[in-house]
Order: sequence, then C-alpha cells, then structure tokens
Amino acid sequence: MMLTDLTIAAAADGLRRGDFTARALTEAHLAAIGARNPRLNAFITVTGEAALAQADAADAALARGEARALTGIPLAIKDLFCTAGVRTTAGSHILSPFVPPYESTVTANLLRDGAVFLGKANLDEFAMGSSNMTSAFGPVANPWTRRQDPDAVLVPGGSSGGSAAAVAARLAMGATGTDTGGSIRQPSSFCGIVGIKPTYGRCSRWGVVAFASSLDHPGPFARTVEDCAILLGSMAGHDPKDSTSADVAVPDFRAACARGVKGLRIGVPREYRAEGMAGEIDALWQQGIAWLRAAGAEVVDVSLPHTKYGLATYYIVAPAEASSNLARYDGVRFGLRASGGEDLRDLYERTRAEGFGAEVRRRILIGTYVLSAGYYDAYYLRAQKVRALILRDFSDVFGQVDALLTPTTPSAAFAQGEKMDDPVTMYLNDVFTVPANLAGVPAISVPAGLDANGLPLGLQVIGRAFDEETVFAVGGVLERAAGFGGLHATAG
Ligand code: GLN
Repeated sequence: MMLTDLTIAAAADGLRRGDFTARALTEAHLAAIGARNPRLNAFITVTGEAALAQADAADAALARGEARALTGIPLAIKDLFCTAGVRTTAGSHILSPFVPPYESTVTANLLRDGAVFLGKANLDEFAMGSSNMTSAFGPVANPWTRRQDPDAVLVPGGSSGGSAAAVAARLAMGATGTDTGGSIRQPSSFCGIVGIKPTYGRCSRWGVVAFASSLDHPGPFARTVEDCAILLGSMAGHDPKDSTSADVAVPDFRAACARGVKGLRIGVPREYRAEGMAGEIDALWQQGIAWLRAAGAEVVDVSLPHTKYGLATYYIVAPAEASSNLARYDGVRFGLRASGGEDLRDLYERTRAEGFGAEVRRRILIGTYVLSAGYYDAYYLRAQKVRALILRDFSDVFGQVDALLTPTTPSAAFAQGEKMDDPVTMYLNDVFTVPANLAGVPAISVPAGLDANGLPLGLQVIGRAFDEETVFAVGGVLERAAGFGGLHATAG
C-alpha cells in the first residue's frame, strides 16, 4: 500500500508508531500532485515548501510526544478559506492578486491540531456552480471516467470540485469545502468520497470568502466517514468572531461513526422521488433502505411537503445575499483594480466588468433584481416565507424520525461542457441538497454504489440540527454495507 492510500485514522497511527515520518507522508502527496495535478487541475496554488516546513514541525512534535489529532496529516484547502500569507482567489479573477493578512478560523483550528496544508484547491468562481466549470483558473477533471467512453472528461461537481478531486485522486488525505446549496455533498457524490455539511453555526464562517451568508456552511471531505468525523472535530467550535457561530460543545464525532442504527427511526421523504429520476438512483436508494433495515433501523415513509419549492427559494435567497456580499469588490479594498478609469464610478464598473465571470454576474443581476424596490415583496420576501415553511417541514419530520435518507444527486457526474448552455439545467443538480441548507440542518453524502458506467453515486443522510452524531452513525452503517472503501478512481 502506498502512503497516499492511507486513511487519516491509519496515517495518524502510523506516524505515532514511527512507521514513517510526516515529511515522507507530505513528500508522497506532493509527488502525487506533481504527477496528476497537471491533468486534474485540482489545485490553484501548491505550497510545497511551506508544507514541508509544517511536516518537519509535525515530526518534531511527534518526537516530543505532543501529537494532536491531525499532526502531520496533509490536507487541501478550498481556495475560499483565507490563509495568512497565501494567495486566496475564490476561483475569481477579481481576487487573483489577493493575499490575506489573516487566517480563517477553520484553517487556524486545523493548523492548531497539527495539519499540513498542501495548497489551495480549485472551485467554481465564488463557489457559484455545480461543475467547477466557472473557475477563472480553468475546470477541474474528475479522476473517475466512464467505462464506455473513457476519453470523456467528467466534471468533479462543484463548487468544491478541486477539494473533492484532490481527495478522490489521493493528492490529499482530506480537504475543506463549503456548502451553500450542495457544494460539499454533490462533489463528494460525483467523486466517490465522503463529505459532510454540518449544522449552520457548527463551523465558523470567519475568514471564509462570503457567498450567501445565511446558507454558507464550511465542512470537510475525506475518503471515509470516520476521517470526516476526525476533520470536523477539529474544524468545529464556537468562534466569537462569527456572530452566527453556535456556542455549543463539540461532541466526539469519531466515536459516533461506529454506533450503528439499532433502534433509530429513519424517514424516507416521498417528495424526493423526483420525476424522471434515473432508475439506478432509485435502485440505490432502495438498497440503502434495505441496508439500514438489516442493521436494525426502522425505516418509514415521511413527507416534507414544501420540498418542491426548495430550488426556487434557494435561487432567490442565495443570489440576493451574494449581490450584497459581492458589493465589496470595488477595485479599492481587495484584489484587482482596473486601470484607466476616469472617475470613481468608472473604476468600480471597469474593475467589476473585468473581474467577474458570467455566472457571478448572472447571480449579481438576479440578486439585485429580487431585492429591488418593485420586486422585493414578490420575490425576496416571499422566498423568506417559503424558507420558513421548509424549515418547519424539517422540524415536524424530526418529531417522528431521527434522520432522513435520500439520494445526494439526481445523476452521476456529467461530462465537461454538458449542461452549460442552460443555467437552469445546471441548477437542477441541487434539487436534493438545497433544502438542508435552507433549514441549516446537517447532511452527509456517503458513496454507496456505482452506476452502469462505473461512476460513483452517493446517498445522503440528513439529521436534526446539532445532531451530526446520528448522521455519522447512519453514514457509518451505509459505508460498511456498501463496502465502497476499497474502490477508488484510477484515471488521471
Ligand atoms: N450549485 C449551487 C450554486 O451554484 C450550490 C453552490 C454551493 O453550495 N456553493 O449556487
């Protein structure tokens, strides 16, 4: 077995036993990046020297017997998390020269626990997208390919496509992501790895470039449920610098992974049986139900009646918040400044026209429109009311069941260029993931099977607010039943 194939849990044990050094582990990952990143484009920035220095510090800590949860573990950081002294682009031309003077709380927590940062992972521009095709730094390739058509380059999903591809391709042992409408779970499903969007408020948003503040959730990617639990345990925690950060204790997520589901009630929401859903997605869902029953859970049919309004609500609320958040990119305070402006207004217009790509401009236009005086009541206010109904659906259903089981995505990974001419087709990808963002409840995606083309498909488990432990417990059962752990992408 190669060092890059290890799980985080196994690597942490190996480091403590002295089977290998943190330097060797980091060198193995940097070599894998050197070999495979030219094709995958999963990293925007590779910080090799800094990573080796962090690895040496980890080896010194290990020698002193001062190892922490992630000492010496090499990770990829979505390039939406500000990293002190390391360029942070948000996948946008407008932030291409931006070097933050501060560290995000989540990445600071990972560093406190000894993690090694390999570099900054590619993403859709400002985390807007489901394909990683909107990055100003070029698309990311999914390390998986279709059995029938191996030359077609598939998308890794988005927006955290670089993070997911890096973990699936063994370029990093884990990664950070953010999930505003599915950007951790959808790429996890497309790349055959595990990703969890925790409860809103569980991980601080401080120092994470804002997309839609009431929907943005930082969270981890890894190749196993347990590794995700280890990473979340480090990333989570109250942060006074984020006013929406929850002042609640961080439980032992790792211990929850092995708990099993005996005595749990799991709901299957009938509204997620989307019209025209691919037969194999439905079959996988049925298989997941059977696995949970066999492991001792009671599985019942439930209803979340406002599910059908989720996408429309999301695509009003998210652009509205984005249009407000992105007003700060004015050519004066951050990043790019266009030259040749005649006056201040001209400077703003030139900088924003040069700096933002098409999808970001589309979101700013939609957001500005739904917040404008004549349309605020018809769109934004109504969307906020529907959001409250969606939240109520979840609180009602969690009076009856402990968790929900659904597919993560309506299809497996599609090819680069597909679904690009019609933004609405692209938005439909998020149909199963956005409700958990609107409600702020935790949700995990676990790889559960392969489609006819040999591509991974994920199942989603949604839980009660601040009950990630049940989500990990159910995820652990699905992972063990699916036996997906041994499978991995070989392309690239
Ligand atoms: N695909 C969704 C969007 O484009 C979600 C993105 C995300 O979660 N950051 O808005």
